[in-house]
Amino acid sequence: MADCGICLEALKKPVSTPCGHVHCEACLRNYIVSSNDALKSTCPTCRREFHIATPDLAVVPEKYHGFILPTIRKLYIDIPSTSKLVKKVNSLKTQVKDLSKEIDLLDERCDGLEREVQAFAEAERATRIEMRALQNEYEELSYKYDSMVALCTETHCSPGPSRSSHNNDATTSLDNAALPVQLRPKRALPKSRPHRSARHSDVPNVPLVSKRQRVSRHSDVHDIGRPPRNE
Ligand SMILES: [Zn+2]
Ligand SMILES: [Zn+2]
Repeated sequence: MADCGICLEALKKPVSTPCGHVHCEACLRNYIVSSNDALKSTCPTCRREFHIATPDLAVVPEKYHGFILPTIRKLYIDIPSTSKLVKKVNSLKTQVKDLSKEIDLLDERCDGLEREVQAFAEAERATRIEMRALQNEYEELSYKYDSMVALCTETHCSPGPSRSSHNNDATTSLDNAALPVQLRPKRALPKSRPHRSARHSDVPNVPLVSKRQRVSRHSDVHDIGRPPRNE
């Protein structure tokens, strides 16, 4: 319901002035009495003047009595049933409760996802550190391998990458074995590497000299920096 323009509260026993403004009956009566004018008053809201004196009906012909109306008239305002509003309020309260539960569930889910994201970030950081370490190790091994190849070239040795008789190269191969496959250095196999299949070794009449020559070349590689042996 609308509020009274004088007491600013919900209208109690509403009455209207000729200008159409509505106030509480008690509020308007107190306002008119306080003005000390028995003939006219003004609307508390719009200050429009209106008469409050009632003519003596005894001197007015009866056929005009219907036209003589009081300036202040009672109003009967139909207030809609509150049951619908109460029902709506209860429905809204239920909705609010459901939404609060949903918010709690979403909060929990959000917390879980945040924890997951944090764990993923930590794992990613650890993997990056490990990857960097492996990269450094790979670069060191590559450098070592290149140095060995250069040394072999200088000493006129065929740089066979996987000769087991080459001590340093064997160490490099072992180190590479510890690396992931994708990080191992790719080496070109020597074109002149002999096949070591059983069929080939079983072939008769292989010249003994060539075997001995190969052995002596390997011995040369072994004996770099060592005093020459007397055979
Ligand atoms: Zn009032
Ligand atoms: Zn008014």
